[in-house]
Amino acid sequence: MQQTNRLTAATGLVDTSDAAPTQTSANQDTNLAAWQTVRKSLQKEFGDAAYRHWLNPMTFVGIEGAVATMALPTRFLRDWIESNYRSRLKVIWHTQDARVRDINLIVADHPLMADEQNSSPMSPKEEVWANDEKDEAQKNAEASAIIGSPLDARLTFENFIVGKPNEFAFAAAKRIAETEEVSFNPLFLHGGVGLGKTHLMHAIAWDIQRRFPKRKVVYLSAEKFMYQFIKALRFKDTMSFKEQFRSVDVLMIDDFQFISGKDATQEEFFHTFNALVDQNKQIIISADKAPSELDGLEERLRSRLGWGLVADIHPATYELRLGILQAKAEQKKIKVEREVLEFMAHKITANVRELEGALNRLSAHVTLVGGEITIETAQDLLADMLRAANRRQTVEEIQKKVAEHFNIKQAEMHSPRRSRAVARPRQIAMYLAKVLTTASLPEIGRKFGGRDHTTVIHAIRKVEELLEIDTQLSEDVHVLKRSLQS
Ligand code: ADP
Ligand code: MG
Repeated sequence: MQQTNRLTAATGLVDTSDAAPTQTSANQDTNLAAWQTVRKSLQKEFGDAAYRHWLNPMTFVGIEGAVATMALPTRFLRDWIESNYRSRLKVIWHTQDARVRDINLIVADHPLMADEQNSSPMSPKEEVWANDEKDEAQKNAEASAIIGSPLDARLTFENFIVGKPNEFAFAAAKRIAETEEVSFNPLFLHGGVGLGKTHLMHAIAWDIQRRFPKRKVVYLSAEKFMYQFIKALRFKDTMSFKEQFRSVDVLMIDDFQFISGKDATQEEFFHTFNALVDQNKQIIISADKAPSELDGLEERLRSRLGWGLVADIHPATYELRLGILQAKAEQKKIKVEREVLEFMAHKITANVRELEGALNRLSAHVTLVGGEITIETAQDLLADMLRAANRRQTVEEIQKKVAEHFNIKQAEMHSPRRSRAVARPRQIAMYLAKVLTTASLPEIGRKFGGRDHTTVIHAIRKVEELLEIDTQLSEDVHVLKRSLQS
């Protein structure tokens, strides 16, 4: 895909216009030489595409004590490197320079350093570009990259798994990508963290670039929008800031909640927004909440944001989680039995990002250790995630399981009856609710027929006491705990 490459290459040019602290260390030359070798190792290890996309924008800042510091132009990139490359980067640095025992990744632009470093043979792409006669699309991609944030090559429509919880948002995103005319403005995507908002936005950007290379698409985080605006203010250059944004055809701002409460930026956004809408340009916004629920938003902006299409992405259902796991396992070419994927889809429910993290962990295990992934291995490898998931277990589930175990009605959990046959299981359920969920004592009390929190404390103490001396009860609690956690 030609277009992909162009955009990817352009991301190397992202925003290098802020001033950098100059290095004073006499060793800086040696350090820079070491950095070049580190870069070469990274490129060799992760391949050209990943290197160009993620690692090339990274610049070297310096070494202090045992810590090597590198800078990334955006928080997104920094976080990405942090979660995907940190450990290897550290090891490679250490191999290169034994003094380095840790690394530090910061968000900053370092024009001087970047120029020096990027003029090495490591990034032939940019050089080719400088000599090439640029066509419209290339210029657009470049301009987008300069004010925008880099796009992740994997976040495409093809890689997005559609299910009930996201089908509406997906359809709206597709519609925008496929037609040049503006049918709803803005498209406002909202949903909890890790549910695919950024994925859909990147997918729109890639698709438009492919279908309509002349259209200028700019994708950026709200944070970056704010940062650019503040920079423009500082350099008294708000005119060109406005021009930049007003010349785009499609403007996407991700994580808009970040702008709420920031009045001057909101004001500027509002004007940019209106100017773009007047010119019939498409705007796409994402946030963690609907416009009506975002705090700290100016009223006129709030109402304006709700004028277009508001599409929410709901948490993934079991079916969607399983579908995503299957697709991703296939993509990564790792063989995981269906029952293991089912186990994961049952257990890891928070969001898609966490599911992906779990799968990555299994995949790393297969790569490093080999062998088969069984449910037991998965349980082992994902222990911390599963524990975290268990903490989210609901009090109701615990009540149900305990009632079943002792063969009493679930309603007895709420009833005032005090006979031992129901009181003891109820106490055990309260104890388990405390141990296995994050519910507070008053909350637990409320869920057990509006009991006082002191009753809950009493129940917990009683069970703890009995665990020491009553083997039958101890066995019951153990079995229940295990079945609730499995
Ligand atoms: P958000 O921006 O809503 O916090 P992201 O778009 O960053 O979430 O999604 C988190 C991760 O989950 C990304 O790696 C993304 O590719 C993946 N993801 C989310 N939803 C889906 C989906 N429906 N199909 C495939 N991958 C998904
Ligand atoms: Mg996001």
